[in-house]
Amino acid sequence: MSSSAARVVVVGSFNVDHVWHSPALPRPGETLQGEYRSGPGGKGFNQVVAAARAGAQTAFVCALGDDAGGALARQLADTDGIDLQDLRSGSPTGTAGIYVDDDGRNCIVIGAGANADLSADFVSARAGAIGGARIVLAQLESPVESVLEAMRLARAAGVRTLLNPAPANAECPRELLAVADVVTPNETEFTTLLSRHAHEEVDADSLVALDDARLHRLCRTLLPRGTVVVTLGAAGCFVSHREDKTRGDARDHYRVAAERVEPIDTTGAGDAFNGALAASMARDAEAPFQAHVRYATRYAALSTEREGAAAAMPAQGDMERRFA
Ligand code: ADP
Repeated sequence: MSSSAARVVVVGSFNVDHVWHSPALPRPGETLQGEYRSGPGGKGFNQVVAAARAGAQTAFVCALGDDAGGALARQLADTDGIDLQDLRSGSPTGTAGIYVDDDGRNCIVIGAGANADLSADFVSARAGAIGGARIVLAQLESPVESVLEAMRLARAAGVRTLLNPAPANAECPRELLAVADVVTPNETEFTTLLSRHAHEEVDADSLVALDDARLHRLCRTLLPRGTVVVTLGAAGCFVSHREDKTRGDARDHYRVAAERVEPIDTTGAGDAFNGALAASMARDAEAPFQAHVRYATRYAALSTEREGAAAAMPAQGDMERRFA
């Protein structure tokens, strides 16, 4: 492996986010005035930017259109030193139309565009980069067979796999969960997976109040062999490991509280968390898992103090200044 080989390979989506802020969300047939901004997004891109700014050598396997959105992705990847491995698609680059009201509620429509063209064959051709990584991180905004291919290639090469099963309405088959070492759902994603795969009906809003033993049992039902990190927004996260006496962590389940911050925009907090978790795991494979979760928790909190998704990801220097 060369010294410049990526330690974290992210397989996922890039979108150009078009965001309108207006006092209320538009109702059917209604026309409103609002403030507009646009910027880079997509769960894959947000997470690879977070991993890169958290200090990891990164590569990003994605599909882009031959258009202004694709050019933006290439330029931004270059700025953050991300090794972009993009399939040039005949489709337009992915987009997201986002309406946000004064209460921070949003409505989102995603045009997957080129993201839907990321093929399993293109991923297979990246077996060298995937096999040379320490961590492969994926989400569910790309075709599921391509995500599965990436995770299987990583597993076959002894590379640790991290799956962020987002968004909640995406297909996430059992065979994909089975090749993930770590799965990181938020509350909605966790309860959706429980309903689909374990026939357990749990209300996402009441999850944070469940007792730890019950949460641990639910995590074990979903992922008997791997680690589950359920992110709980401002309440932090819950971690559940398979019982393993050889691991550095003393306990097989625990909570990590969120950092106290004054959030401006929590969009992309989960992406910040996942990218930072991957970077930390790649940096020090021997450290106890809890240390990686603490780092990701701090990183995600800091990302909420700035507006935007990829653009809001803190640099290592920001982390050192804030949490010295
Ligand atoms: P998602 O963005 O995927 O819904 P969460 O909202 O669960 O994910 O956030 C992911 C992580 O970001 C949390 O586990 C927490 O560490 C951090 N976080 C989210 N919201 C806040 C907040 N208001 N204050 C501090 N940390 C936060």
